[in-house]
Parts: sequence; C-alpha cells; structure tokens
Amino acid sequence: MPRKKDDATDNSADVAKGHFVKCRYCGQKNAVKADYQARDANCGKCKLPLSNEPHKKFGALNKHDYVHPEDSQALKTLKAIPGVDSALKKLLAWTGESAIRVSFMASAVRVTPKQCPDLHAKLVVACDTLGVEVPDLYVQQNPLVNAFTGGVEKPIIVIHSALVERLNDEETLAVIAHEVGHIHAEHVLYLTAARLIEALANISVARLVPGSEIIKFIVSAGISGALLAWARRAELSCDRAALLVTQDADVIARTMMKLAGGTFASKIDYGLFLEQARDFEENYDKNKLDKFWADLINAGMTHPFPIWRVSEILKWVESGQYTGLMERK
Ligand SMILES: [Zn+2]
Ligand SMILES: [Zn+2]
Repeated sequence: MPRKKDDATDNSADVAKGHFVKCRYCGQKNAVKADYQARDANCGKCKLPLSNEPHKKFGALNKHDYVHPEDSQALKTLKAIPGVDSALKKLLAWTGESAIRVSFMASAVRVTPKQCPDLHAKLVVACDTLGVEVPDLYVQQNPLVNAFTGGVEKPIIVIHSALVERLNDEETLAVIAHEVGHIHAEHVLYLTAARLIEALANISVARLVPGSEIIKFIVSAGISGALLAWARRAELSCDRAALLVTQDADVIARTMMKLAGGTFASKIDYGLFLEQARDFEENYDKNKLDKFWADLINAGMTHPFPIWRVSEILKWVESGQYTGLMERK
C-alpha cells in the first residue's frame, strides 16, 4: 500500500547554504547549523544520524537475493516431512491469531506515529527500504533483551523495552529491520509455530487436552526438531536484511556486540570483538556444524550466538553479494 510521502522538498540549495539536511532514511527536512558536519546531528523525526550519503531503497527485492543458504536448506528439510503444513496449520488454528494479538494489545505499548514516533519512523524506514507493508509494532516491558515477529494472517513485531534502552538509534533500526526481514522473507508463519512449540515445551502436554494430539504428532514426526533447526538459521537471513536497511556492517556488528556483552558492552573493545568474529570464521569446523546447531536447540537459545552471526555477516559482505545488491539499479 503506498504511503504518503513526507513533504520534504529538494533541499540541495539549502544544503549548499548549510542550513537544511534532508534525512537520508525518512526524508524529513532538518534545520542544521551553518557549520554542520555529517553525523553530528540527528534527524528530528527518525532520530537517525544525518549525513549527505545516499540511502538505497530496494524497489523489488526478492527474498532469494539475500536468504542464507542454510535457511533455504533447513526449510527444504522441514517441508519434506509429510504432513508438516497441515499439522502446523492445525496447531496455529488451535491457538489462534487473536490470542497472540489480544495478549499484546493488553500488555504492550503499541507504537504509532504519535506514540514513540521515532520508533515508528524507524519501522517505516525499514519497511520502505525492503518493500514491506508496515505491520503493527509493540514495545513490551521485559528485561530479556529480545525481539520477535509473529502472527498468522497479519504479522506483528514485538520489541522488548530492555533492547530499546540498551541500543542507540542506528542499532535499534537494525533490530527493527531484522524483524521486518522475517516478514519480507516469509518466515512469519513457521516462526510463530516455532515460538509456540517452544512455549508449549514448558507446559505439561497432558494438560493441553484440545491440542495434545497435534502436539504429540508434531514431536513424533520430527517436525518440532526440524522447525526449531530452521528457525535458528532463519536468523542469519534476517541479519542480512538488517544490513540491507542499515547499509553499514559496523552497525550490525555493534548491535551483536551489545547482545553478546549485555550491560558490560560499553567496556568491550569493538576492534577486538570483530577480530574474535573473524577468528571464529576462520577456525570453525564445518563438520561440527550439525552438532553445533543441535546444541543450540538443546540450550533453548532462540537466536544463534552473536559472534557467529557477526562472522556470517562479515562473510556475506566479503563474498561481494551484499555490494552487488547495493549497486544493482
Ligand atoms: Zn529521519
Ligand atoms: Zn529474528
């Protein structure tokens, strides 16, 4: 659905005079001091740093342009299980989309152009860049540093307050863009099923009378294992989507550093952190890959290790694929 464009006009003459800068992300026209330097002021609307660099918006981005091969492979394995789609549909119908929505409407703050407007502006930037219809975004008071996207008919994005508090504006854009990436890459239905299965794993199946048969089938047919294995790999695709929005690999790596280091992140040396990611990239044993993923699932981690994610992003940049997409007309 086309959205109304900002009324920012061409401001090249003003820029030349040094008085106005049009935000490269959201298009807002910002008054700046005559001696303005790139990145020393933030946009009044989306709060992202102002600069005169261009920001690419991908008109017709295909998910296969960036989806990680591990994601595609794991999805193929999952889809090859007989009865997978009908079982997951039954599972989701049993819980229902309304239950997911109602629980957020009741417990989380809905982000709108008036409520937390800079977060909403960042959501619109991510959606405009990837070419996705703007979904509902909620911020939930939660000390766990996390975010997720779910839904059946209509996706919703939920970001925990701890994440927004810890990250700067560009890093927050990276997290929102990662979630929008799940929508663009058509992950939402399977991702919701994966979350549901994880949540149900903590509840005694015997008590879930209406859904117990379908859950038993999902576990016994190997669907839950394959689904969770895929869900971790899907994260790697969405980190790429986040890079396509922030258009700065350092922003992605710094976000991961904060996810890895928690409140301790301010004391971590970024250069050494990158070195660690490169070390990981060089030394990691591909033969142990399957065991590694299995361990991740067993440990109940919803997202793969941040160091691995950084190493995967660095690898993608170095492969030239990212630059190819950025240069594509
Ligand atoms: Zn802006
Ligand atoms: Zn994710």
